[in-house]
Amino acid sequence: MKISIASGKGGTGKTMVTSSLAAIWGRPVTAVDLDVEEPNLHLFLNPVLRGSREALMEIPEITKDLCTYCRKCSEFCQFKAIAVLNKAILTFPDMCHGCGGCMRVCPEGAISRGHRILGEISWGTAGSAGFVMGRLRVGEAMSPPLIRQVIHQVHEDARFLNSPPDLLFDAPPGVSCPAVNAVMDSDIIVLVTEPTPFGVFDLRLAHKAFSSMDKPMCVVVNRAGLGNDEVYQFCKEENLPILAEIPFDRTIARDYAAGQIISQSSLRMEKVFKDLARLIQEYGASLKEVRHA
Ligand code: SF4
Ligand code: SF4
Repeated sequence: MKISIASGKGGTGKTMVTSSLAAIWGRPVTAVDLDVEEPNLHLFLNPVLRGSREALMEIPEITKDLCTYCRKCSEFCQFKAIAVLNKAILTFPDMCHGCGGCMRVCPEGAISRGHRILGEISWGTAGSAGFVMGRLRVGEAMSPPLIRQVIHQVHEDARFLNSPPDLLFDAPPGVSCPAVNAVMDSDIIVLVTEPTPFGVFDLRLAHKAFSSMDKPMCVVVNRAGLGNDEVYQFCKEENLPILAEIPFDRTIARDYAAGQIISQSSLRMEKVFKDLARLIQEYGASLKEVRHA
């Protein structure tokens, strides 16, 4: 089962929920940090890293001797990453999205595969859980290709296992391309929100953005007791099940700020997260049954 922990905005407690679930999941699980621009899951799970590799993206490399300056490549590129000016051809690697189209349309075979470094993928273990994270190179703007590579690696690693672990994806905040790329491979999307006007606004955005993927969604309300009941009304209107409420509590904020895993910080929170894990697992099992019926 693949579960994305997402939110319409940063700071709602997404990583707190992911780390807390990973620590008490109760069956094989891998926690995957897809918030590649600002990965911080490792700060809570303290994984033992066992390896890392550079993540690369293909970009065009021009063999100028072969180029006839026909402009087919620059006309094809939607991202203005190649320009042909009279008898000069220029590439702008930072604008390239790595689609490979220019290589295919070049009639002279003048474009070969180069690469640029997107970032790094690291893996290891955090207690009994597996751990994988992506980290975007400083100055790199394009996180979706790195997110896709992290997800691909997790699936490759699980391919030959008899019983692959469940996957907990800590998605990037927001509803733009990185967040959509992070959740599109999951079976269930858990939206973390808070009962404030900002919280409900961003929950609406996230629900709308992810609805088109037709994936089951559920909600965790963080800082419950703060603000008003608009979040609850919205969930009722949209039939979004609320699977857990994490109270607005100074002790939780203090423990989280100190880098603690909240499901391990008190018996009360352990129960909240064990119940949440059980409900997500039951939800996943019921979806499987529906699919197989
Ligand atoms: S690989 Fe795609 S995005 Fe990059 S330069 Fe070629 S056509 Fe443009
Ligand atoms: S398509 Fe090939 S031959 Fe034509 S301008 Fe581009 S690199 Fe040169």
